[in-house]
Amino acid sequence: MQRTVLVLNSGSSSVKYSLVQPESGVSVANGIIERIGDDHSLARLEFGGLKVERERSVADHEAALRLTFDLFAEVGGHLGTLGLVAVGHRVVHGGRDLYQPTLIDDAFVAKIDALSALAPLHNPPAVLGIEVARRILPDVPHVAVFDTAFFHDLPEMAATYAIDREVAQRWQIRRYGFHGTSHEYVSQQAAKFLDVPLSQLNQIVLHLGNGASASAIAGGRPVDTSMGMTPMEGLVMGTRSGDIDPGLVFYLARTAKIPVEEIESMLNRRSGVRGLAGVNDFRELHKAIDAGSSDARLAYEVYIHRLRKYIGAYLAVLGDTHAITFTAGVGENDAHVRRDALTGLAPLGVEIDEHLNDSPARSARVISAENSPTKVLVIPTDEELAIARACAAVVDPGDADGE
Ligand code: AMP
Repeated sequence: MQRTVLVLNSGSSSVKYSLVQPESGVSVANGIIERIGDDHSLARLEFGGLKVERERSVADHEAALRLTFDLFAEVGGHLGTLGLVAVGHRVVHGGRDLYQPTLIDDAFVAKIDALSALAPLHNPPAVLGIEVARRILPDVPHVAVFDTAFFHDLPEMAATYAIDREVAQRWQIRRYGFHGTSHEYVSQQAAKFLDVPLSQLNQIVLHLGNGASASAIAGGRPVDTSMGMTPMEGLVMGTRSGDIDPGLVFYLARTAKIPVEEIESMLNRRSGVRGLAGVNDFRELHKAIDAGSSDARLAYEVYIHRLRKYIGAYLAVLGDTHAITFTAGVGENDAHVRRDALTGLAPLGVEIDEHLNDSPARSARVISAENSPTKVLVIPTDEELAIARACAAVVDPGDADGE
């Protein structure tokens, strides 16, 4: 039987999961439990072509996982019969010291928990997910995989904020970068797709999902990335502002007397495309633009403007850039965004082929013009598979595919 890894991504009110075969790359099952703690929580599972959906009260993360396993039993079989060798936990923030995929024990949970001060929105739900999953599945090894890991060795000049050095050191303030699993996976896939050794490729990866980040990668190693100490910095996102003048936070706190928690919540949840246009899904944004909404048009223009600034910056950071790759929900599906991000860059060696760009294909593909010195690619990301492979390598180093 093929080995499987259960990959869990625990948020404050949701748990996303995927059961993956690390060797074959097949996703056996995936699903989500949303609105945990609500009377009308929603549990969804897709398994072997079957889709199940249940709406019911799910009090907490433990109830959510138990419900998930009940759904598994209902449609596909008990997890114990599905070759489960590990549970992989996506952990957003590893701080300075945690970056290797690591077998979780009590001491390690405490280390992740200790980083909660640095990542108050992200690490506590991960810790909760780990604790609950270890309780329910005590006989399977649990492995933590960090979203910051790929950027652990970001050059100091890219990782350092120009602020008081002592304060920065004391409070562990630096640019950590996020979406690392995706940037690493996609950059490796780009090298494979182009049949060029990763070590010889200078590339820009644009992870444009609900969260969004860009990275500049030289020879497989990141040299810059747009997210910083938290996942708020950089590109305009679905609900996050991306780059802002920090002065506006002081202004809102001091003059508008808005509590700091509320400012944080606004910048995370009610900003970005949603803040400007009232929607954060790009399919809805385009509909609103087509219907004549000037707010939606402005949101789109602000989004594209920021994206182009980062692309320009990373072309300058890398110098000779061999590939620009779009990935994640928007990057993989939205031909308008890809076109508008790169239009007019032919003098910089980047030229998109409109016809290829418009193709509704789902698989990895080239969308640049034949004579474009910089290749432009669309490559589907697969963070779950990357996490599953990292876990399999930890659990059984000799047997890992290690692709
Ligand atoms: P992700 O965070 O990678 O799952 O991306 C989710 C986002 O991708 C959604 O909020 C949408 O904005 C976007 N998205 C998904 N499908 C499409 C599509 N067909 N066209 C445009 N945007 C899409």
